[in-house]
Amino acid sequence: MQRWARHALFLLAMPLAGVVGIVHAASATTPARISAALDKADQIKHSDFDTFTRMLQELEQQRGSMDDLAASHLGFLEGWRATWVGDYEKGRGLLESVADASPDNVLRVRALATLINLLGVAHRYEDAFRRLNQMQELLPSVRDPRARFAALGEASQLLSSAGQFDAAEAYAKEMVTNAPEGETECKGMQHLLRARREANRLTTIDPIYLKALATCEATGDTVFGETIRADIGAFYLAHKQPRQAIDVLAPHRDNLRNINYATLLAEFDATLASAYLAQDDLANARRFALSAVAGSVRDEFTDPRRMGYKVLFEVEQRLGDAQAALDYHEKYMAADKAYLDDISARSLAFQLVDQQVLARKSEVDTLNKQNEILRLSNALDRKEVETGRLWIFVLGLSLVGIVAIVLRLRRSQLRFMRMARRDGLTGICNREHFVEQSERVLAYGARSDRGACVILFDLDHFKNVNDTWGHAVGDEVLKRAVDVCRRALHACDVFGRLGGEEFAVLLPDCSPAQARARAEQLRLSISATSATPSRPELVVTASFGVASTLQCGFELHRLLVVADGALYRAKRSGRNCVFMGDSGDIPDSPYPVAAT
Ligand code: GH3
Ligand code: MG
Ligand code: MG
Repeated sequence: MQRWARHALFLLAMPLAGVVGIVHAASATTPARISAALDKADQIKHSDFDTFTRMLQELEQQRGSMDDLAASHLGFLEGWRATWVGDYEKGRGLLESVADASPDNVLRVRALATLINLLGVAHRYEDAFRRLNQMQELLPSVRDPRARFAALGEASQLLSSAGQFDAAEAYAKEMVTNAPEGETECKGMQHLLRARREANRLTTIDPIYLKALATCEATGDTVFGETIRADIGAFYLAHKQPRQAIDVLAPHRDNLRNINYATLLAEFDATLASAYLAQDDLANARRFALSAVAGSVRDEFTDPRRMGYKVLFEVEQRLGDAQAALDYHEKYMAADKAYLDDISARSLAFQLVDQQVLARKSEVDTLNKQNEILRLSNALDRKEVETGRLWIFVLGLSLVGIVAIVLRLRRSQLRFMRMARRDGLTGICNREHFVEQSERVLAYGARSDRGACVILFDLDHFKNVNDTWGHAVGDEVLKRAVDVCRRALHACDVFGRLGGEEFAVLLPDCSPAQARARAEQLRLSISATSATPSRPELVVTASFGVASTLQCGFELHRLLVVADGALYRAKRSGRNCVFMGDSGDIPDSPYPVAAT
């Protein structure tokens, strides 16, 4: 059914609300004025076609000073005008460039709606559906209610013509529910009725269609009202109620001439012809059939043309004019074939574009998925590198931590070892360490056959120091005595505190005579030095016992016992003197000492 071509232009030509007179483009020099002139031309394009045409000519002179938006608006109006006057080639070129390049989506959608209509008229269904697809993609971004309304009408009409009745109905319903200000349910209901009737979904004429028809008449939307009427008539005819069809259509048929809409008039005539034929009114049947055929002369694919020839054939057949009947039958067959071909061309075009769109979408989806995978794997690589770096950093940090811990442990271990080996007060070897060191030196001496000596000494009357001066002074005295002795000792001598105020020195590679002399040196050093700086008058002495490996062998214990015996004797001899061990080669006599 080819009736939708011009019809849609009526929809697209809807005068905008609030038209106030005409502004001539001659005064349009500034961008604001140009824009205002374009809007006015847009508003009056249907109601005052002549002025509209003149304004376009004047605006064309201003094109040089227009921005992209204004230029594309002018392009749209010129494209619309060319289509309206039947210059489809020019219209198509102009509308295509607006549809593809306008900076304004509203203009793009409006151009697309007009273009879709134009392509339908030209039977370029594949292009029409491709443009429909483009429009459907743009539609969500378009808020302008009028542009949306026109686009929905166009989409509904094209989809219905290709047998896509569900989508056609959905668009028509949206037109009804979201009619822009100044619009009524009229146009949406007309599209809805057409989609439902063509889908054979009507079982009766619902009063809502009659109400919509009344609304169309009240608002002056004659084309839409009469289209509703055409559908109601066609419904009655299809449901074997030719009388009702005639009653609905006949009284309004002649009024249709006034709106100069040949396609719709042909629809009326074809339905009336069939209805009169069903009523055996052959004269009227022939009259309206001839009119339907004549009205479709510019388009050989329409239903009215096919129906017209069919009625003419049957009329002639009933009248017994076999030749005329045969002629009309041939024409009927040709028109029927053209009509059916056109229907399947529309349906095929829809399916083709639908498949292409699906294929493109799945291509895009695949590409998107590939990109996503690429992005994710890059992110993963980056993450891996980051994680790797993090691990290296963490491991490095752990290593530094471990090294620090080990060093600290080592330090404290050394400190503990020192603490374990040293005497806390004087810093010289404690008893255990002295024994350990001395045994090593003695073992070496034994191996190398080098004699060694042990000096054991004990401070004299030290208890008195503590008792007289206090324990702290006693400590000072102990440290001072140790310092004095250290200065007199050699690096290889082993010096230890065996306990309390008793000390021992192991002298490696040393004869008893040398040992006695060294002991004497120590005795003198201690007694000659004031016991503590805080008490310069305090003098302390010590008693010494010496043992030699020559007498005792290289066993430390034995050496200490012998030295202790000598020390005991020194104490007994009046203290502050040196005694040699009693089993030595030197006679066991006290070394004469002058007490200080
Ligand atoms: P002798 O001449 O017979 O050795 O008499 P003495 O008083 O030195 O000997 P005695 O064994 O009677 O006393 C030793 C004292 O040394 C007793 C103890 O309190 C003191 N002493 C032991 N170790 C320390 C110490 O680390 N610091 C202080 N201040 N006194 C200590
Ligand atoms: Mg003592
Ligand atoms: Mg003692």
